[in-house]
Amino acid sequence: MIEISNITKRYGDLCALGGVSAPISAGEFIAVVGNSGSGKSTLMNVLGILDHDFSGSLRIFGVEVSTLSASSAARLRNELIGFVFQSFHLLPRLTAWENVALPLFHRGLKRPERKARAIAMLDRVGLADRVDHRPEQLSGGQRQRVAIARALVGEPRLILADEPTGNLDTATGAQVMDLLRALNRELGVTVVMVTHDRDMAKLCDRVIEIRDGRVLPLGEAG
Ligand code: ADP
Ligand code: MG
Repeated sequence: MIEISNITKRYGDLCALGGVSAPISAGEFIAVVGNSGSGKSTLMNVLGILDHDFSGSLRIFGVEVSTLSASSAARLRNELIGFVFQSFHLLPRLTAWENVALPLFHRGLKRPERKARAIAMLDRVGLADRVDHRPEQLSGGQRQRVAIARALVGEPRLILADEPTGNLDTATGAQVMDLLRALNRELGVTVVMVTHDRDMAKLCDRVIEIRDGRVLPLGEAG
């Protein structure tokens, strides 16, 4: 359970989030939609415990985030949250399995275990035959699947995906969406996904629409 309560976030005079409240249940697959500049990425940064500088309350699986120290926040982020980005954010010099294994490095796991878990997760996303490829040797859809494997390898309870299909063609984007949806169902991981695509949003359990830093009440969307 994630409880977002009256979160306000300012950049100087600009109010990027103006009192956002939204409860999210464990296991839900949520779409966050809204125009460019409406505050979607700002909300994702707050949810991802990347941005502490807000007012209001954020409880993630029982932990109040707003009062955590930087080091506690970093530990919680590493344990609980996996990130997927529009532009993949893979490290070009590392192979697929090395990219996937990165979050495990910070947990102090030995290399053989990191490698075994990374390869198992690459197998899960359909890339068992690409574990030693570097990002430049992979298609866009394959790169995003590597990024999804990296987001999941640490067994997080929450996946935050900011326009994960934004750099993919329609068919590849639909495959990535299907994969996220399947992983959500099979692993029970909560997913919050920003998307511009109304068809993708329809495949989610629930849509949160943001306009000018505020959540639209149900029924006003569209
Ligand atoms: P979205 O992801 O919905 O396109 P953002 O959350 O990125 O919107 O931005 C919301 C508002 O906050 C916009 O007006 C944007 O210009 C502003 N903003 C975002 N990040 C910063 C920043 N680091 N500094 C100043 N203003 C920012
Ligand atoms: Mg954005």
